Formats: sequence, structure tokens, C-alpha cells
Amino acid sequence: MNQLDKSVEQLWDLMDPCTLCPRECKVNRRDGQTGFCCIGDKPVVSSVGPHFGEESVLVGSGGSGTIFFAGCNLGCVFCQNFDISHYRHGNPATIEQLARSMLELQYYGCCNINFVTPTHVAPAIIAALKLAREKGLAVPTVYNTGGYDSVETLKLLEGFMDIYMPDMKYADAKIAGELSAAPDYPHINREAVKEMHRQVGDLKTAKGVATRGILVRHLVLPDNLAGSFEIIDFLAEKISPKTTINVMDQYRPCFKASSHPKINRHPTAEEIQSVRRYALSRGLNVLD
Ligand code: SF4
Repeated sequence: MNQLDKSVEQLWDLMDPCTLCPRECKVNRRDGQTGFCCIGDKPVVSSVGPHFGEESVLVGSGGSGTIFFAGCNLGCVFCQNFDISHYRHGNPATIEQLARSMLELQYYGCCNINFVTPTHVAPAIIAALKLAREKGLAVPTVYNTGGYDSVETLKLLEGFMDIYMPDMKYADAKIAGELSAAPDYPHINREAVKEMHRQVGDLKTAKGVATRGILVRHLVLPDNLAGSFEIIDFLAEKISPKTTINVMDQYRPCFKASSHPKINRHPTAEEIQSVRRYALSRGLNVLD
């Protein structure tokens, strides 16, 4: 058995009892139990298709081949995809169906396969990816994650993922606990980003399209609740001064955010611009 086969087997083992992600719910998902993410051993797919709204380096001419997974290991009160993440709209998919979806996305010209919210269903994704590659899948893969990932699981993805696109949501434990039910997020997230960068390095492109590397997403929250400046310092000092970052300006009070006075408004233009300016001043590669 080669290393990649071993990784697939070890990933399935991490589901029983489940320690796939830092929540470590320890439920037996292959026996039908579910934990925080509310998903069993079979992924639930909410949609599959070319997506032109992602970062331009992921879109190219044929779009990013997104596969949206229902359920999530975070509990963000402002979730912008709450119908998928929290209400879990979608259909269960087999390994074979997932592999076929990847091949179809490639066939229709997508420049990558973009797994959205993959952490809690990583074993099925990797098993399907292995099958799809055996059948000719050649475009890069994107691990599009909320960034609450354990290093142990990430190590088993090495060799399967070409591009990591983690969120860096918070620098402060209290805020992470209040807004995403994950007070250990800042520490876990930083260790995860270090591991991702170790595997794939800084973002590389060919003809303007990403081929390999890490692309960090950071959503600016009102009143600097996301700890934007600290996160930028971390990237510049502990990851790489050439880190590519998307400073995202689209925060709006969704889902349960309206009942949280701290986040019941859009960030101002100046709040967003000050983060962008700071990231540029630290030398990061800030996407337009
Ligand atoms: S993947 Fe789901 S069940 Fe497993 S530890 Fe994480 S939240 Fe819990």
C-alpha cells in the first residue's frame, strides 16, 4: 500500500470515534452517530457547478468547479451560507457520485475543483479524489475551509490538495467563542495555516490562474472584532511576507447576527480600507 492509500485509510479511521476536526466529538459516524457538524459518514452535497464569484485567480475562463458540502464544524452566528451550513440543505452523495462530479466539472472547463466546507467530510472527499484522479482528473484541487482544522487531519491531505484557502476569522479567543462557538479557534487556526503553508508554500499562478499554494481569506468585521491587524502581523512574520490574502468586505448581518449588537452592522469603508492598507504596508500580496 502506498502512502496516499494509507492516508485515505487513516482518514476514515479518524471518523470512528470522530476526531477529524478540533471539536473531537468522538461519535462513531460510521455507526450513524453525528456530532457538532450533524453529518454522518456520507457527505451531503448542496450544489455542484462552475462558480464565477470566487477570487479571479481561481476562476480563470471556465470558472471554479465548486462542490458545496452541507454541515459545518463551526457555529458562526453570522453565517452567510446558513441554509447549507446549518440547515444542511442538500443530497447525500456516494464516493462514486462525488468522483463523477469532479470529472464533469473538469470536462466542462473548470480550472480547479473547489471543495467548499470540506473538513467534516474529508475522508469521502479524498477517497473520491483518488478515484477521480485514476480516471483522469488533472486540474488543481482547492481546500476551501473555515480554517478550524486539525494538523493531524491536514497531514493526511498532503499530496491530495494543491491549493489551501483557509479563513482566518479571529485573533481573539473570547470573540471566537462568542461568534463561532470555538474559543480555541485562534490557536488552532494558526497551527493549521502553518501546516498548510508547509505543504504547498506561497500561492503560485500560471497565466493568472492559481496552480498551487495558500490563499488566506479574511473577513473584516465591525470594530476590528476579527483582530485583522494581528492576523496580518502573524501572516507577515510567521507564515511568509509574500502570503496572498483576500481582505473581504462583504460582511453583512446574516442568520443570527441581528441579535448580536456588536455585529449588527456592515463595517465602514474606512474600516475595510485600513485593513487593506495595513496588509499592503506589511508587504502581503493583497488581492484586488
Ligand atoms: S468532524 Fe464533525 S463529528 Fe467529527 S469532530 Fe468535527 S464536528 Fe465533531
